[in-house]
Amino acid sequence: MTVNLLDFDAEGLAAWFAGHGEKPFRARQVLRWMHRFGEDDFGRMTDVAKSLRATLAAEAEIRGPAPVRDTTADDGTRKWLLDVGADNAIETVFIPEANRGTLCVSTQVGCALECAFCSTGKQGFNRNLTTAEIIGQLWHANRMLGAVKEPGVGDSGERVISNVVLMGMGEPLANFDHVVAALKLMLDDNAYGLSRRRVTVSTSGIVPAMDRLRETVPVALAVSLHAPDDKLRDRLVPINRKYPLKDLMAACRRYLESAPRDFITFEYVLLDGINDGDAHARALLALVKDVPSKFNLIPFNPFPDSGFHRSPPDRVRRFQEILMAAGVVATVRKTRGDDIDAACGQLAGQVKDKSRRGASSRLTFAPRRTSEVSW
Ligand code: SAH
Ligand code: SF4
Repeated sequence: MTVNLLDFDAEGLAAWFAGHGEKPFRARQVLRWMHRFGEDDFGRMTDVAKSLRATLAAEAEIRGPAPVRDTTADDGTRKWLLDVGADNAIETVFIPEANRGTLCVSTQVGCALECAFCSTGKQGFNRNLTTAEIIGQLWHANRMLGAVKEPGVGDSGERVISNVVLMGMGEPLANFDHVVAALKLMLDDNAYGLSRRRVTVSTSGIVPAMDRLRETVPVALAVSLHAPDDKLRDRLVPINRKYPLKDLMAACRRYLESAPRDFITFEYVLLDGINDGDAHARALLALVKDVPSKFNLIPFNPFPDSGFHRSPPDRVRRFQEILMAAGVVATVRKTRGDDIDAACGQLAGQVKDKSRRGASSRLTFAPRRTSEVSW
């Protein structure tokens, strides 16, 4: 059976090479070709022994998710629709800014956690993405953006994709092993060489997995809070019933013991009349007082039958002011890529047989997506 080498992190690739009687440095060479130089043809890996190239060509492949569509917005935001088989597609968005370029990556087809205001959650869970499909989004975007390094060319430190956020479709920490392997590749100097503070995992708060992430690969952490008390959060983010706020806050504090950044980013979707009152903002300040944190306030992106509305701009401003007045940094996420439907909640992959629970017809998937990240 052909193995896809994009499925391996550095350690896994070395083990596969060892199984073929090859030295670890050969694995590193191939890792560099694949990820730094974006190469998918073993024949062009000129410094790899011919016999090894032949073995690789016979037994392995380098195959990212197949691109279906490539769209660029007036503001430069670029969106790829990628086929992941069985009529399922995911989307990846690149957001260029003056001083950085951020890639927003998906980790699952659908999501099982069913947050009330999230269209991904509303549509059910299909499957976890493989490591190759997760890292394949960065691999593909890098190639498309002309960001791969030429063999032999030194690293100037300039990266087209300078930041990666796991804020696309799915709950990253519910697909732990594949996500960790992909994170390790993002940080590996022979692959993408990103620093831990430039890679952000966003989670709805799966407490034991937050601890495991801290022990394994403590990248920057964003936590989707959305409510200041358990009663409201139980309703908006149902995983809260399993891991309530007290446990979540304790996990945030533990995370910061190993984190490369000295704060947690709390994401907070503002829902008109639900969680956007002055009292909510003040309760939030009390909740997070022992957790060094920043807030990222996200205007809700409506989708059909969501039952929620976006808070009016003056409400958003007032909410932000209350946090800021108490010395907590709070930014409001801007919308990018409007003309190509790349803003939060506008992306639409497609999924067939959306959940194992049933439904087999082709359905339009409209996962909410982060198109602008403000930290
Ligand atoms: N599952 C992870 C990561 C993906 S969601 C998580 O929940 O954190 C990324 C962010 O988008 C989360 O903060 C999520 O709550 C938010 N989001 C979900 N639906 C949204 C919508 N309709 N409008 C705006 N933001 C939304
Ligand atoms: Fe899943 Fe995140 Fe959406 Fe909740 S907000 S349903 S965890 S993708």
